[in-house]
Amino acid sequence: MIYRAFRFSLALAALAAALVALTSLAAAEAGFGSRPLQEGAQGEDVASVQRLLAEMGIYGGPVTGYFGPLTKEAVQRFQRSQGLPAYGYLGSLTAKALEAARPATYHVVAPGESLSVIAARYGTSANALARLNGLANPNLLAVGQKLLLRGKQASPPAAAAAAPAAAPAGAAPAPAAGGSPGEASRPDPLRVYTPKPPSSKADQPSKVLALTFDDGPDPVLTPRVLDLLQKYKAKATFFVVGQKAERNPGLVKRMVEEGHEVANHSYTHPDLTRLQPAGILAELQKASDAIQAATGKSPAWFRPPGGDFDDRLVEAANRSGLRLALWTNIGPQGIAPPLLARRTLSAAREGAILMLHDTETATIEALNEILPKLTAGYRLVTLSEMAGLR
Ligand SMILES: [Zn+2]
Repeated sequence: MIYRAFRFSLALAALAAALVALTSLAAAEAGFGSRPLQEGAQGEDVASVQRLLAEMGIYGGPVTGYFGPLTKEAVQRFQRSQGLPAYGYLGSLTAKALEAARPATYHVVAPGESLSVIAARYGTSANALARLNGLANPNLLAVGQKLLLRGKQASPPAAAAAAPAAAPAGAAPAPAAGGSPGEASRPDPLRVYTPKPPSSKADQPSKVLALTFDDGPDPVLTPRVLDLLQKYKAKATFFVVGQKAERNPGLVKRMVEEGHEVANHSYTHPDLTRLQPAGILAELQKASDAIQAATGKSPAWFRPPGGDFDDRLVEAANRSGLRLALWTNIGPQGIAPPLLARRTLSAAREGAILMLHDTETATIEALNEILPKLTAGYRLVTLSEMAGLR
């Protein structure tokens, strides 16, 4: 059903776009030129309309692709429900109203899913999903990202409209999926995760990938990671813990001096979903301050400790001027270096965000295997470069 509805949405979107191009709405509503969608019409467009009306519970007949009296009645019912003249044929006004009335459907990206996997599941193509969601880089997906499967993209929420008081007072935060109050004012994860259009650099044929390191800086291991990156001419993004950055400002400064990006991984690495809004903001701000103090630059990205986030955290990150970034692979801790290397390499693809910990000795050994293989096929760039932010 979802598959059919999605194909319909593409057909209808094309239909609507073609119709909008007509200069006279009146003329458009009066017919479709060579292919009027009115009683007697046949084809995939008619079938699409039948499917949609059936999905809305307005059309009870079979999907035949033939515009018969039942279809006409259903169209009329729909038109009445929308306050349109009930002519019983499909012009641009009705097509647009149908498009608007169709409920949007989302898919929330799960760990390990790629756009092509998601597309296959819903019977569409990765390119179609990328277009629908305005993804500049179809491979830059984040776990938890909401992908529109069909319909129109919701208009972005008004910036700064949500006051901190809008978060439920007291009580522990609900998980992201919960029906929290203020549904309409929820930050749209799409807006958080979707990178801006790529710079001309990203249009180059060479494939790019972002290697990221969490939980440092570690006074012993981070320098070794930096040495290896230097050896392989790879750039990476370090999601540092603010407290540790304060203790090792020289290492943080070295990251930037060697062309890497330093990003925010909170100040003390707590489960931020358990904190009050003020506590969340303080964690983000103190970490950004530590980075600013060490590098002279405030970070652009934030990765929640443990990957746990909810709406309030997304909102807090937005308010702090930070973009959320998760990862493509599973970056497990406490596994043997060969397995870590194998798992990391298996997640490598154009636009992937690979996550490792620069606090694990296994990372050093794994990097010795990962870096030569990755750099043979990819340009390893910072997250901001990959997202076209610089
Ligand atoms: Zn972490």
